[in-house]
Amino acid sequence: MTDINQLLRADLRGQQPYGAPQLDVPVRLNTNENPHPPTAQLAAEIGAAAASVALALNRYPDRDALGLRTDLAGYLSARTGVDLAAANVWAANGSNEILQQLLQAFGGPGRQGLGFEPSYSMHRLICLGTSTGWVARQRRAADVLTPDAVAEAVSAIDPDVVFLCSPNNPTGTALDLAVIEAAYEAARALVVVDEAYAEFSSRPSAVGLLAGRPRLVVTRTMSKAFALAGARVGYLAGDPAVVQAVELVRLPYHLSALTQAAARAALARADELLGSVETVKAQRDRIVDVLRAAGFAVVDSDANFVLFGSLADAHTTWARLLDAGVLVRDVGLPGWLRVSAGTQEETDTFLSAMTALAGTELETTKETTS
Ligand code: PMP
Repeated sequence: MTDINQLLRADLRGQQPYGAPQLDVPVRLNTNENPHPPTAQLAAEIGAAAASVALALNRYPDRDALGLRTDLAGYLSARTGVDLAAANVWAANGSNEILQQLLQAFGGPGRQGLGFEPSYSMHRLICLGTSTGWVARQRRAADVLTPDAVAEAVSAIDPDVVFLCSPNNPTGTALDLAVIEAAYEAARALVVVDEAYAEFSSRPSAVGLLAGRPRLVVTRTMSKAFALAGARVGYLAGDPAVVQAVELVRLPYHLSALTQAAARAALARADELLGSVETVKAQRDRIVDVLRAAGFAVVDSDANFVLFGSLADAHTTWARLLDAGVLVRDVGLPGWLRVSAGTQEETDTFLSAMTALAGTELETTKETTS
């Protein structure tokens, strides 16, 4: 019998797949989804858009997703004040696929990606999947990246792709644009700014830095603020040459006609969908305040989740919360857990469980190292 493990690429043997638990519990606050589902009216509009393209599903979809890219460019231009056209935008099945396509085009064997951890674990995993080397500069969870530290790391390592995440997952901290400028100046590389959570942040977007910086790429998603994680729509904004490069590696017809139609129907109601952003931010700020008052370490957040710490054993706290019907994320940082802002009721349940745990053996001295 053939041992599949022997056939598997040596660099993949023994690796673990990305695996946030998908458990059926009452309060799921572990994958930074938007807790507010689309309204019945929007769901009906998405259904009608899907029904209309269903009549032509015998044909392949628009390979270049031009209508969707035009709509995304319009949305991003309106949000940021930066003039963008379809040629500056590329769309795919979630921003994870965007990141993968970028690495297929700009990473690969003999090349290296650089990230600043703790950050989004898929940056490393997508490097692994595309045989791109991975180098990480570590920092303590609560430490903010500075232009000097980032420029020093980029100059010293000289990677092919630099990953910056703003707001950063799992810390929630948004980057100063000066950090991105410094990374760009120090690099000869492609600089990718992952802005999956940008709509929750009051800081300016890196989209404002794109002009005159052809190696800068900003990735975005409809999974978070747009409450459309199930539809799988992510996109990038950058120089048309970056879009053309990605076209070399994307699979033909990668984005289904149903996905394109659903995304366009949702974008037509962008204002309504983004209406939940303020509600989510209010719950996020409540989490920060209540956990701090209860004595936990909390990192200020510009996103829709909060990293909290001073836990004697993060995994035990995670398990106690699960017992209370609340699923949060153990991001692998000793002493820390991450929680997504939920609805008011979900957040109530989480905060009551945490308040009950405060003062027990779970809270230690205010140690904030990661
Ligand atoms: N970037 C970051 C920082 C994320 O946290 C996530 C999802 N957790 C993604 C990208 C990918 O999101 P999606 O593929 O749903 O667009």
